[in-house]
Amino acid sequence: MSSPRWQDAARATGLLAPDGRVAATIFAEMSALAARTGAINLGQGFPDVDGPDYVKAAAITAIREGRNQYPPGDGIPELRRAIADHQARHYGLAVDPDAEVLVTTGATEAIAASLLALVGPGDEVITLEPFYDSHAAGIAMAGATHVRVPLVPDGSTFRLDLDALRAAASPRTRMILVNSPHNPTGTVLTRAELEAVAQVARERDAVVLTDEVYEHLVFDGVAHVPVATLPGMAERTLTVSSSGKTFSFTGWKIGWVHGPAHLITAVRTVKQFLTYTSGAPFQPAIAQALADDDTPRALASSLASRRDLLLEGLETAGFGVSVPAGTYFVVADGGPLGFADGADLCRRLPELAGVVAVPVSAFCAAGSPTADAFRSRIRFTFVKREEVLREAATRLARLSPS
Ligand SMILES: *Cc1c(COP(=O)(O)O)cnc(C)c1O
Repeated sequence: MSSPRWQDAARATGLLAPDGRVAATIFAEMSALAARTGAINLGQGFPDVDGPDYVKAAAITAIREGRNQYPPGDGIPELRRAIADHQARHYGLAVDPDAEVLVTTGATEAIAASLLALVGPGDEVITLEPFYDSHAAGIAMAGATHVRVPLVPDGSTFRLDLDALRAAASPRTRMILVNSPHNPTGTVLTRAELEAVAQVARERDAVVLTDEVYEHLVFDGVAHVPVATLPGMAERTLTVSSSGKTFSFTGWKIGWVHGPAHLITAVRTVKQFLTYTSGAPFQPAIAQALADDDTPRALASSLASRRDLLLEGLETAGFGVSVPAGTYFVVADGGPLGFADGADLCRRLPELAGVVAVPVSAFCAAGSPTADAFRSRIRFTFVKREEVLREAATRLARLSPS
């Protein structure tokens, strides 16, 4: 018997209690805890410094100039052109701004609309595990089946289990949803890992939906490889990104998806009945920002040093740490400090150390083997000012047994 899709979405994200009540997300619970206790909130990943003033000024000018009514459903032409130019300049991708680009209300809408448009009951969608919560919710709302392939701890990083990937594929595999650079682990999938994904997609005639919102936030010279650049993949790949993370305007919700015209037509058809359009004055501002490669480059380099600051603090405190090659996040293992359960540790961390984090188990299916493998791990964000991270590091040192 089928249940309402909102219940499926709540269940898929671990929020549906057996008595039918919907729990608050761990992010909301932890943010409330931070507010109540005065702890430093390194749980939720949003920057505490806005993007550039000239981009703000462009949005203000757009409002003053009267760009306040419905923009075209696809997005304004200058933004679609800027997105196509960005893909050509960075990755050598030829994208038709009129037929192959759709501006969306953040990456979140691009992902939800793509899932609703292209998969349904009986279809399987493969994702990595841990996974971003909206991926699981979107699959559930589409009525499809979520099949998960684990990232496996490997030294100071995580790697995709390629045997598990091949075993997860089936004749019902309709879509593979990848996310690299990866939230929550900070893993940047290698070309070889992405080639394996591409091979499975070609064999199963599946679409790849790729969430690349952290495309510019990579460190240590590691390269981000867009799936659409792999041989034969542009014709079956929907590439999703967003200005939120790249330009530090997460509240503006200007995202996009591009891909072959027939897939974009499908996604557009759904998107126009979700929001139709949004962000009139923000679209021209982001069109302008997308020509600017210096801002994301400077953000990545500043994030790399802020990552190091937090890593040092976590190591001093006695956590096991993995070194993220991208994103806003580092995953720390409470096991060496004697904390076997990350969710329990996160609930106690404000009192123990005046800092808030979120458990990685919140990014796993309840009771899954991967949830178990990540049980003692918790996620911290480092997209905060250096002085905030320094203070957090000082507080975390209280956990150190020595
Ligand atoms: C933040 C985030 C998003 C959401 O992007 P919006 O543009 O704010 O909708 C999507 N995917 C991942 C992996 C994220 O971390």
